Amino acid sequence: MLDSIKSLARQYAADLVQTRRHLHMHPELSFQERNTARYVADQLKAIGITPQEGVADTGLVAIIEGRTGNATSTPSRVVALRADMDALPIHEANDVSYKSTVDGVMHACGHDVHTASLLGVARILHVLRDQFDGTVKLVFQPGEEKAPGGASLMIKEGVLENPAPVSMIGQHVAPNIPVGKIGFREGMYMASTDELYLTVRGKGGHAAMPDNLVDPVLIASHIIVALQQVISRNRPPASPSVLSFGRFIADGVTNVIPNEVTIQGTFRCMNEEWRAEGKRRMVKLAEGIAEAMGGSCEFEIVHGYPYLKNHPELTRRVRSQAVEYMGAENVVDLDLWMAGEDFAFYSQVVDSCFYRLGTRNEERGIISGVHTPTFDIDESALETGAGLMSWLAVQELNV
Ligand SMILES: [Zn+2]
Ligand SMILES: [Zn+2]
Repeated sequence: MLDSIKSLARQYAADLVQTRRHLHMHPELSFQERNTARYVADQLKAIGITPQEGVADTGLVAIIEGRTGNATSTPSRVVALRADMDALPIHEANDVSYKSTVDGVMHACGHDVHTASLLGVARILHVLRDQFDGTVKLVFQPGEEKAPGGASLMIKEGVLENPAPVSMIGQHVAPNIPVGKIGFREGMYMASTDELYLTVRGKGGHAAMPDNLVDPVLIASHIIVALQQVISRNRPPASPSVLSFGRFIADGVTNVIPNEVTIQGTFRCMNEEWRAEGKRRMVKLAEGIAEAMGGSCEFEIVHGYPYLKNHPELTRRVRSQAVEYMGAENVVDLDLWMAGEDFAFYSQVVDSCFYRLGTRNEERGIISGVHTPTFDIDESALETGAGLMSWLAVQELNV
């Protein structure tokens, strides 16, 4: 099986590059992936797979049935594999033949790579379908980059039912990992993401007479400092957390104190209980400080993705299968990462493993991070992206 998958992946590698380049040249923003979805559907149909289209509007689900009818086998397992399909509102700065043809839209997070890889998996496993037991569910989801996250909508539309997968595997490009290597982490991996919007109100006026005013600039400053203490004093020590404020607008001048100050920030952590408790404490503290100082604070929270947890046992199994496929020297351990990822929604519901696919090539200058206008990949990663994922799925079916 290993050799069959490897040789098919090698055989399809050039096509995968063409597929990825097509997607790269025609990027679509989150929840607008109509042409992408049509393209994916056409590709699947050409392979001989009829997908369910229009899941969460622009998402698709495809099923590959392995051998059936073996009375002696235990009830067959279902493993789900996920790719995201959306691009970002970034104008591509790369000078390449496959540059984005859409002004201001770019596959700068590698979702073109994930989609092309999963199409490669479809092709490989469709060919090998009489050589494994069980069912592989391919999930092409929209809107990873934008709240509420395509994953949450796909779950609502039943992607984890009929048939229900026992586990779910996803991959993401990693521009910090050399091409040819992949990375794993058990347990906590990526952070929950909540957006914080505060409006601190006081009473503005002439800065020379603060005794007649309620200074929202001072109140807001106290709030900013105090909220950091929620992180340092109330956070469970084993729960990584980040609280950052990137916007603090007090639109007065040297001698005018404004009526209000607006603050925006992000709260990230890796523990759903602490996440709820931390937000509750922050709201209470900010409102209390504002009130005690004679003003008020309106605290709005846009609740984002949960934290992403890699199921330890599943991840250990998948990692050892990856070692089999790639060689131990090419499988690395990942650090915690405080970025968000909507694959986290699946990981809260079903045993999940999200790993990273190395795409860096320093010699060729392919080093830019995701979400930058110069992001690109070493396209030889596609052969690994499709082959490895096929192998992992089949091995997971055999557990
Ligand atoms: Zn992204
Ligand atoms: Zn991404």
